[in-house]
Amino acid sequence: MDKKTPAERSANMSAVKNKNTRPELFVRSIMHKSGYRYSLHRPDLPGKPDLVLPKYNTVIFVNGCFWHSHRNCKKAELPKSNVDFWRHKIKSNVERDKKNYSDLLELGWRVLVIWSCSCQKKEVHLLFSQIKEFLEGNEKFCEIGEVKNSSSVNQ
Ligand SMILES: [Zn+2]
Repeated sequence: MDKKTPAERSANMSAVKNKNTRPELFVRSIMHKSGYRYSLHRPDLPGKPDLVLPKYNTVIFVNGCFWHSHRNCKKAELPKSNVDFWRHKIKSNVERDKKNYSDLLELGWRVLVIWSCSCQKKEVHLLFSQIKEFLEGNEKFCEIGEVKNSSSVNQ
């Protein structure tokens, strides 16, 4: 018998490797409209980045807040049931992410992580200006969608 909750079932079905998610399509459409050239999911790069912009030496990951454990983000909260299962699963995702980012940086790529909670229509201009700022700057690594948590001082 399947004892999973509906949320767990749908979470399983939209597995972590899922490509072409809505936030990802959102980012792609912004970039496309703005005239940026990119390729998708290059299998030869660690973590198969969602977008690759060779001209800017940049790879972009659009990360689901839950699957990649967005710090301090409400959408990253674990389900109340099967907590150990989820904790283990998400933890291994996060470790894989870290490894991919550091491998990419070592290969000379710049890495931009866009958290899915910042992919909202009403904030499209803010999102685009942050992407543009990264592409035109010199930073090696940046996350868009940092959630400021004033109540916690230590990370
Ligand atoms: Zn988030």
